[in-house]
Amino acid sequence: MGETDRVFTLLTRDRGKIRAVAKGARKPTSKLAPALDYFNRCRMILSRGRDLDVITSVEVLDRRETLGERVNAFSHACHLAEVTGRFVPERQDVPEVYQLLSAALQELDRPGEPWILARWYELALLAVTGYRLDLYRCAGCGNELVAEPNMLGIQSGGVLCPNCWPLDPNGRVMSINVQKILRSIDRNGMGELSRVSIDPALAGEIEATLALYMRSIAERDFSSLKILREIRETAPYFDV
Ligand SMILES: [Zn+2]
Repeated sequence: MGETDRVFTLLTRDRGKIRAVAKGARKPTSKLAPALDYFNRCRMILSRGRDLDVITSVEVLDRRETLGERVNAFSHACHLAEVTGRFVPERQDVPEVYQLLSAALQELDRPGEPWILARWYELALLAVTGYRLDLYRCAGCGNELVAEPNMLGIQSGGVLCPNCWPLDPNGRVMSINVQKILRSIDRNGMGELSRVSIDPALAGEIEATLALYMRSIAERDFSSLKILREIRETAPYFDV
């Protein structure tokens, strides 16, 4: 790789996740560079390379006009990209994930608080990649979950009723409110999300619960969540 080259991870509609190199993209005169802004939706021509494919032409279909100027929204877009990259293997056809990410990035490009959209995306991504978090039935005994503190199981891959807690000593107890909001996010379409308002302590609890579940599947922490927490602590009233 030359010093002026850049490697991109692309999510494609037909071929899943691909890593490709844009030759000379760091040069000020590069013709490719202006189109290769993060999170744009593009039509690209790639040529097969020895290790990585090479991006030879780019046409922008949807440019994310405001994301680059809004730190909070941009950081959330990074988070969506990170979790997507973690859950999608390379070169595996994932059209549902492509649609989902495309729609979520478009939504993030509009004014609004991105937090709830990120949680909605996490639940939806888990569902389309085969790791749906069942918020309605106990993963241990199969009984319907009722309005009481239930546990997010780690080994059991779902929510456990109090009778089944001994199955999973590393689980995390979820309050009734956390479960209520998660269900509401889960049931709502992306367009209806703004109706839900949540206080910051509860929001933190929900974020941590979903992060724990995703981490138990992806077996790694998400660095984007740590960055988002830092942004919130230093500048809680950033642009929305
Ligand atoms: Zn149970």
